[in-house]
Amino acid sequence: MSKSVVIIGGGIIGLCSAYYLQKEGHQVTIVDQSNLDGGASYVNAGFLAPSHIIPLSAPGVMKNGLKWMFDKTSPLYIKPRLDLDFIKWVWAFNKSCNVGHVEKAAPVIRDISVLSQELYDDIIKTEKFTCHYDKKGLLMLCQTEKMLEKELKMENLAQNLGLDVKIINAKEISQLEPNVEINAIGAAYFKCDHHSTPREFMNEMKAHLTLQGVKFFINEKVEDIDIQNEKIVAIKTDNQKLHADEFVLAAGSWSALLSKKLGLKLLLQAGKGYRINTEKNTGITIPAIMVESKVAVTPMNGFTRFAGTMEIAGINQNINKVRVDTIANAATRYYPNISLTKEEKTNAISGLRPVSPDGLPYIGKSSKCNNLTIATGHAMMGWSMGTATGKLVSEIISNQKTSLGLNPFHPDRKF
Ligand SMILES: Cc1cc2nc3c(=O)[nH]c(=O)nc-3n(C[C@H](O)[C@H](O)[C@H](O)COP(=O)(O)OP(=O)(O)OC[C@H]3O[C@@H](n4cnc5c(N)ncnc54)[C@H](O)[C@@H]3O)c2cc1C
Repeated sequence: MSKSVVIIGGGIIGLCSAYYLQKEGHQVTIVDQSNLDGGASYVNAGFLAPSHIIPLSAPGVMKNGLKWMFDKTSPLYIKPRLDLDFIKWVWAFNKSCNVGHVEKAAPVIRDISVLSQELYDDIIKTEKFTCHYDKKGLLMLCQTEKMLEKELKMENLAQNLGLDVKIINAKEISQLEPNVEINAIGAAYFKCDHHSTPREFMNEMKAHLTLQGVKFFINEKVEDIDIQNEKIVAIKTDNQKLHADEFVLAAGSWSALLSKKLGLKLLLQAGKGYRINTEKNTGITIPAIMVESKVAVTPMNGFTRFAGTMEIAGINQNINKVRVDTIANAATRYYPNISLTKEEKTNAISGLRPVSPDGLPYIGKSSKCNNLTIATGHAMMGWSMGTATGKLVSEIISNQKTSLGLNPFHPDRKF
């Protein structure tokens, strides 16, 4: 049965939800407070990475987070705040930082990322998208024996989960990347990963959806939600009131603010990251993570992108120059012939990742509201999980059997 569906948020999650809902014959509207050309879904590193099976909430991360609170150059920064939502999130995050959770979460993350890759393949082929999309794997570059040993353990875990990965030495790295000098003693080479230029996919998807009749209301902020008997009757933007049979909450880092209007306490924090682009020919052809520095590099269409940091410091897009410099310095430490210019650093842009406490997204319906599907909280993996999330959202609203079990993603789950 065809339904009217309003999606709040037109990032990668909102667009992919619209794609599958429209394909199922629903009438879809997307409302976004921005003009849909920036934010996490545009500035990300473009990795479609089943390799990232370890959630952010892993053993030792909280300890490091506490240590790094006083380090302006740390890759993870948790800003202490006297805010109840933040305190609850930290509590839940800390509880999730254990081996048992990682063991449970890893196969779930693999399944949704692998499905997502298949669906990206399918969309690009079916809709004849011409956006940049490549399958060259991912190098986890290590400069120290200690990190390489950790990667070796990861290799075992990833292989047990069926992922294509092997440890390679410095010589093999330079054979793979002959046009750029790399300062690393070895790497885990995940052949299973893909990468893309996010803005190209986003633009092509928006154009496709518009052609298919999806309605867009941009620069319109959803300010209130009218709920009666556990059902949304309408949402109020700063411009109009929108009615629909079903609603989707895909408002990224802002989702928690809106969920409060439903009496729902979605634990979610914004995790700020930055990207620096360079149009110089870097010679880099394979995406990589500089493991000790936790900085990513991606060869995109016409430029190379360096991305990193995770600042849990509330909803703001301010640029912290020290952290931008830290990303640029890491680039030169691993790629000695690459030096990002002052201008490139000045042009750095930030984006907010919606971070759940256990590193798994929220996908599904809360018991608090019958006609709202929540799709957010993907943290560092929203690009990788975008298409699969969209498909799951459409299956939920269309009352179909879902492609994956939804229990690990339940919005009402306890931490
Ligand atoms: C530097 C960086 C690098 C990253 N690299 C990768 C990577 O390589 N691979 C990967 O998988 N992931 C990566 N990520 C994470 C990924 O980008 C995010 O998880 C993903 O983009 C989140 O998508 P989203 O649609 O949930 O949120 P968003 O892209 O933030 O979209 C949410 C939308 O909701 C709108 N909105 C919010 N509130 C309202 C409201 N009240 N009314 C109307 N509209 C509203 C916003 O304007 C926004 O457009 C990275 C992120 C960053 C910052």
